[in-house]
Amino acid sequence: MDSKKRYDVIIVGGGIMGSTTAYYLTRKDPALKVAVIERDLAYTRASTTLSMVNARIQFSLRQNVEISQYAFNVLERFEDDMTVAGQRPRISYHREGNLFLYEEAAAIDAKAALAMQQALGCQVQWWSPDEVKAHYPLYAPEGLAGGTFGAQDGHFDAYAVLMGYKANARAQGAVYVEDEVTQLAVDKGRIIGVKTGSGATYASAVVVNCAGAWCTELAGTAGVDLPVNPVKRQCFCLDTAVKPDGPLPLTILPSGLYFRTETGGMVLLGKSMAEDPVGFDFTWDQNRFMDILWLELAEFVPAFERLKLVRGWAGLYAVNTLDGNAILGEWPELKGFYLANGFSGHGLQQGPAVGRYMSELIIGETPALDLSIFNPQRILEGKPLAEGGLV
Ligand SMILES: Cc1cc2nc3c(=O)[nH]c(=O)nc-3n(C[C@H](O)[C@H](O)[C@H](O)COP(=O)(O)OP(=O)(O)OC[C@H]3O[C@@H](n4cnc5c(N)ncnc54)[C@H](O)[C@@H]3O)c2cc1C
Repeated sequence: MDSKKRYDVIIVGGGIMGSTTAYYLTRKDPALKVAVIERDLAYTRASTTLSMVNARIQFSLRQNVEISQYAFNVLERFEDDMTVAGQRPRISYHREGNLFLYEEAAAIDAKAALAMQQALGCQVQWWSPDEVKAHYPLYAPEGLAGGTFGAQDGHFDAYAVLMGYKANARAQGAVYVEDEVTQLAVDKGRIIGVKTGSGATYASAVVVNCAGAWCTELAGTAGVDLPVNPVKRQCFCLDTAVKPDGPLPLTILPSGLYFRTETGGMVLLGKSMAEDPVGFDFTWDQNRFMDILWLELAEFVPAFERLKLVRGWAGLYAVNTLDGNAILGEWPELKGFYLANGFSGHGLQQGPAVGRYMSELIIGETPALDLSIFNPQRILEGKPLAEGGLV
């Protein structure tokens, strides 16, 4: 085998997970030979670049809260810390809040999660419908129990963050290769490398599956069966006739409909629906907004009865059908095969903590944040985490 194609770690997929893993590995050990094999360096179908890019502290699982606390710290300092070769990333980090609204039946669980978040030092508070109305006069929260408002939650430019990690990983020695991994190579219960569409073979004792919504296909080439499905999710960009006085937080209605303001006076909106198809489908259907979601939106924000649907897009969630949470760590039945998969719609904000954690597992360091609750053993045992993520 060509010695140039021998690496200490091969990462399959160069989206946020692949790039943060490459960044932390090479930062911790610059002598490590790390290759990221990504089939599309334009990232046209990567979830990272098709995301709504929200970062929130509001989770019901403590480890997900802690993951976001780390993300907040990283994003705050990102432009300073990730400047490389004189290139300063501009990540447009807007901390405009997240407002989750609840009906009476869900309020008890929401308040329990709120208490846990507050105990961890998070800036989240309960608002009555009157308080919601006082902050956002366009809203009609009457009849709801109230909402939780996380003032530090917000959004950022995913592509700029991805490019920031990639530039730094490369400056630290990581190599990005544009190619498709078609086969994981296995020998006697351990990973030995990968084969690619261009006919190349790469040798490594460590391969990390960062293939996003394609992770199950990739794992399947080594006989590993992951409970992760690609599921289409759609987003809509709206130009409303009435413009709010200031930014609107990501507002999540009890039905799951969510929206927020975007730069340029636009509103972005989405909703995960039971009929969203499983598969690699990127078609976008404006009728979903026109026929269903518009009415739902206008009920809660009557001023948005008049608007223009400007554009939209579809991307894929990698839905962990067991429990809607990440799967992190070495697959117990295949030595050297690591997973960073199944993020189910909240993975972008998890990139920094996951990349750091994967690097710690691979290098053999004690993790700064113990994320062992997400270990792949639970998949083999069919034991879901007690509290789910957002799918
Ligand atoms: C519409 C939408 C809205 C979202 N909103 C949010 C949000 O508000 N907040 C949030 O935190 N998360 C959100 N997410 C989820 C988030 O985008 C993902 O969890 C995250 O980006 C996953 O990153 P990844 O690196 O695992 O996958 P990806 O970004 O998809 O990267 C995987 C990469 O692997 C490559 N690849 C796959 N197979 C192979 C192969 N065999 N060989 C070589 N390369 C391969 C692909 O080309 C791709 O570039 C959203 C997702 C969608 C679709």
